[in-house]
Amino acid sequence: MKHGYDVVIVGSGAGGGTMAHALAETDARILVVERGDFVPQEEENWDPAAVWKELRYQSQERWLDERGQEFRPYTHYNVGGNTKFWGSVLYRLRREDFGAVEHRDGVSPAWPVDYDTLAPYYDRAERLFHVRGQHGIDPTEPPRGPYPYEPVPHAPGMAAIVAQLHGLGLHPSPLPLGLLRPGEADGCILCNTCNSFVCRIHAKSEADICAVRPALRRPNVTLWTNACARRLIMDGRGQKIEAVEVERDGQRVRVEAPLFVLSAGAVNSAALLLRSADDRRPEGLANSSGLVGRRYMAHLATMMQGFHPFRPNDTVFQKTVAINDFYFAGPRSKYPLGQIQSQGRTHGVMAQTAYPWIPLWAYSAWVARGVDWLVMSEDLPRLDNRVTVQSDGRIRLRYRPNNLASHRVLVTETKRILRRLGFWLIVKHSHGSKNTTHQCGTLVFGTNPRESVLDPFCRSHDIANLFVVDASFFPSSAAVNPGLTIIAQALRTADHIKASEFRQGSQLRESSVVQS
Ligand SMILES: Cc1cc2nc3c(=O)[nH]c(=O)nc-3n(C[C@H](O)[C@H](O)[C@H](O)COP(=O)(O)OP(=O)(O)OC[C@H]3O[C@@H](n4cnc5c(N)ncnc54)[C@H](O)[C@@H]3O)c2cc1C
Ligand code: SF4
Repeated sequence: MKHGYDVVIVGSGAGGGTMAHALAETDARILVVERGDFVPQEEENWDPAAVWKELRYQSQERWLDERGQEFRPYTHYNVGGNTKFWGSVLYRLRREDFGAVEHRDGVSPAWPVDYDTLAPYYDRAERLFHVRGQHGIDPTEPPRGPYPYEPVPHAPGMAAIVAQLHGLGLHPSPLPLGLLRPGEADGCILCNTCNSFVCRIHAKSEADICAVRPALRRPNVTLWTNACARRLIMDGRGQKIEAVEVERDGQRVRVEAPLFVLSAGAVNSAALLLRSADDRRPEGLANSSGLVGRRYMAHLATMMQGFHPFRPNDTVFQKTVAINDFYFAGPRSKYPLGQIQSQGRTHGVMAQTAYPWIPLWAYSAWVARGVDWLVMSEDLPRLDNRVTVQSDGRIRLRYRPNNLASHRVLVTETKRILRRLGFWLIVKHSHGSKNTTHQCGTLVFGTNPRESVLDPFCRSHDIANLFVVDASFFPSSAAVNPGLTIIAQALRTADHIKASEFRQGSQLRESSVVQS
């Protein structure tokens, strides 16, 4: 069976969901193809054992690593993609992140757009995803107006820590958070199962709730769930994509359209282009630069916990403060180090995944007296850090983290701070190279087709009717969470599509009417 739409969007996460929302207001017939289903609202959403022990919502897929060993990536296939599970910390990149920045391990490359270009889209992204924060406090903040929503107040325990941090001469600032109506009857209850959990009451700002469901209220938007895009198919002249092959309910269907927007996540979008290789393009589609799948980045992230045996931590919602003092340089380093954020509360079950032989009661007693932090640094793009596809179609992810020395310095600085805050013991844990949560950079955007896959509007240099709006366009990973930048660029690309493609709307329609 064939189907006809004006635009096919592959993936419904941060990029794809936002794109569907932005195009919904046009009269284009839009199909969103999503390999997962809606996550049900159920008890298990907030059950640490279901989420962390049984890995109930995590993809069942196995990828191969650098050495060809299987691993289960920390990624989720469902409506809303990984945003369903995110901590909803929604940062703008710093102005400096858009230029070339010298790091200990090399130069973080410049973006083809500057902060001022993206700033109005950040404004829109923050409104769409209900971002709460307070401007004018964070020393690294780029120029901006007030946030659309008030910041989440610190719980008393965190307020005391913030006061101590000020006393140490640091500049803690409120974390920008996407939460819906905290304190209101149907709003966020500021619980302790947010980051890595699904919000059971749908009060988290994520793509399913803020973008996909509102878009589906329009008659021109269709969502196929449990529908996996397997291959993109070029037309006979090799100039444009004419169809996507989708596996849906055990059947292969071919969907034709004049325009395709890929947003399957940085790893899967690259894999899809590589899997779509044909006789004329054995290196994969959109790959004249040879860069498809290369320059994979994922951030360097370490979870840290400060522990005090006689100081029980009664904070419920802990994730409200950031320390950005070392973002551009450290007290003992001229190179950028990254960011420190307070994190959601660790649960005993979560901690037990690190060392399963220690009994749960011991972990529970431990985490009840701990304060949790995330320490995050930029990793740099390297050609050898890449996604490839095996002959059987499986994904292989080769990733050797770099810039580790700077990350270690930041971990040491954080330890120093936590000691000065009075914690007796500080522990740390990292998923290392298996942490795929902040995956980006596999289809980089830029002005030079020999050095990038996409143009500055995220259109393929090679294939005019292909756009990519997930995290794969990032030329550098910066050291803040990627979500808001993906959303902002998707809004920018949507505006560009509306201006450049829908201006010739009749053309789009004529070419897609009779497919079934
Ligand atoms: C636990 C966790 C916490 C996080 N916390 C934060 C945070 O606080 N702040 C932040 O900014 N970022 C956070 N992130 C990262 C953030 O979620 C991602 O950067 C963001 O979701 C990436 O957006 P995307 O559009 O690139 O991909 P995704 O949001 O992952 O969406 C990709 C979509 O494509 C679908 N898909 C994949 N392959 C196919 C296919 N072949 N056919 C059809 N559909 C397909 C997937 O099912 C998915 O729905 C977190 C991630 C995790 C896992
Ligand atoms: S209620 Fe609020 S804090 Fe709890 S999961 Fe939902 S959005 Fe997160």
